Amino acid sequence: MAIISSRPQPANSEDPPPAKVGKKASSSPIQTPKTDPSLPNRELLPKAAIGEETQEAKIRPQRLVDYIGQKDLKGVLQISIAAAQGRKDPLDHLLLYGPPGLGKTTMALILAAEMGTNCQITSAPALERPRDIVGLLMKITAGDILFIDEIHRLSRMTEELLYPAMEDFRLDITIGKGQSAKIRSLPLPPFTLIGATTRVGALSSPLRDRFGLIQRLKFYELDELTTIIHRTAGILPVNITPEGAMEVARRARGTPRIANRLLKRVRDYTQVQQAPQITKELAAAALELLEVDPLGLDWLDRSLLKIIIEHFNSGPVGLESLAAALGEDIKTIEEVCEPYLLQIGYLQRTPRGRVATEAARKHLGY
Ligand code: ADP
Repeated sequence: MAIISSRPQPANSEDPPPAKVGKKASSSPIQTPKTDPSLPNRELLPKAAIGEETQEAKIRPQRLVDYIGQKDLKGVLQISIAAAQGRKDPLDHLLLYGPPGLGKTTMALILAAEMGTNCQITSAPALERPRDIVGLLMKITAGDILFIDEIHRLSRMTEELLYPAMEDFRLDITIGKGQSAKIRSLPLPPFTLIGATTRVGALSSPLRDRFGLIQRLKFYELDELTTIIHRTAGILPVNITPEGAMEVARRARGTPRIANRLLKRVRDYTQVQQAPQITKELAAAALELLEVDPLGLDWLDRSLLKIIIEHFNSGPVGLESLAAALGEDIKTIEEVCEPYLLQIGYLQRTPRGRVATEAARKHLGY
């Protein structure tokens, strides 16, 4: 079982705080899941928050058989794993893309477990300075997986250091400055880079081209999300009826992270109501209270659609005007709200801007 380490980083460490994960797959500890320097020092976290994180680690599937849905992706990766193991090579570099919460990080950890290797987890904002990536690459051992989240946000210099590392397992370091500067090449052990992004189009093409496999994660079907909810309910543990699980799944926007989050909130509601199990009615009542509607749209999704319909005559409206009217960040609209609204056909992207569809108007009672 995975344990999250709460060891603080050394105060004078120059290196980014890489997270060593899953030493040799079987029983070893999993450490801090994301190396975001903006995260609070875990030592300062209240006990309840640490408990939640440990619970997160328990809920996260550990092996490919536990990873529900994404049949095509699993099929492709099963072949890659078998082929790489047959050759005793590391996996090819892999780029996973899709909206947040669909299981990109989880898949990277599972691949490390299946290959019996370590996984170092970091994200592009933690690799701002070239020495950050150099520090990480120097620590890599043969066969390791390096997972970089939000890889579209890498700085140019970091990206350029990655090119020879990915292609020839070589680190080119510049020593000195100006005319006396020299490039020294250091050999690296063979490793696998797994990049994750919500915006594959924002990746530079030289970086994209260096991935042997590029795979999209899809929104989950209702039955898959229902299975995920039953699995999580078993781990928490909490009693839930099949209809209750389906009600939560229906409102989870095709996303496991949201499904698990909603389940926890519904559990709290059921507990306060002193009910023995989560039923369809209790799930619906709890989620109404949280303003999550029967299709999973929350306050922000509905406000976005309402603004397009009421202020811009259902569109088309440019993203910037929409963000200004909504008082939201463009990225949140693009990466969090839009993918699902596009998927269910409530929003259209046209060359002249965003349009709210007839289905969206109907759903909101216009
Ligand atoms: P991403 O990296 O794409 O943002 P994560 O891998 O962090 O998403 O997944 C979010 C959570 O959803 C995980 O903690 C895990 O519990 C759950 N999850 C994701 N994919 C699956 C899956 N295929 N089966 C079961 N649970 C999943």
